[in-house]
Amino acid sequence: MGLESVADGVWLLRGDFRGAMNVYFVEDGDGVVQFDAGTKSMRKAVRAAGEELGGVKRVVLGHAHADHRGAAMATGAPVFCHPDEVADAESDAAIAPYMDLSQLPVAWVRWIYPMLLRRWDGGAVKVDGAVSEGDRVAGFEVIHFPGHAPGLIGLWRESDRVALVSDVIYLVDSARLKPLPHGEASVPHPAWAWDHQKAKESVRRLAALDPKVVGAGHERPLRGESLRATLERAAEKL
Ligand SMILES: [Zn+2]
Repeated sequence: MGLESVADGVWLLRGDFRGAMNVYFVEDGDGVVQFDAGTKSMRKAVRAAGEELGGVKRVVLGHAHADHRGAAMATGAPVFCHPDEVADAESDAAIAPYMDLSQLPVAWVRWIYPMLLRRWDGGAVKVDGAVSEGDRVAGFEVIHFPGHAPGLIGLWRESDRVALVSDVIYLVDSARLKPLPHGEASVPHPAWAWDHQKAKESVRRLAALDPKVVGAGHERPLRGESLRATLERAAEKL
């Protein structure tokens, strides 16, 4: 089935392009909350994973980019996101209005992204409700990490220092479409950013939480005692 255990009551489904698109499931009573929604091609796998875990009670989007909302409506569960993300989630545009792909340095990557984003996207999502800073979701606290997207949110569990953070941090080099060397992290490329300076501040805020597990939107989770330093380093680059 391909579900990987991330932490107590937290699972990861990886799919699409190099298996780099992540959808998380967090135990919530007799079912799960789905965090992020990957790409359109993952709909069947998301449905199957949700059923295996007792049913998806609600979907919470980390943010509304095409590769995070693609399978948002796969299970029919109600969809939630941050208030600042509702307009983009409900828009049928696969490319957010603030993205500037001309900033990507490699020509073929610049050319291929519009096609990729449209292929990944599942189209406009009907948002049923909002979650904001401080709200509780399945034992996690919602944290607002604006920058890469205006309403980007992460989920934080203090008891075992687990952070599920969508695209607050990249473990991929999106400008070259390849993973970063293992253990490295980066602020998402400015080409995608709603506000790149705020994106850096959000990485610093994540570092200050001193997480032991960071489940990002792409590639396998980072683990260890030195993640704070890794994240602080990332915030100084790019
Ligand atoms: Zn994104």
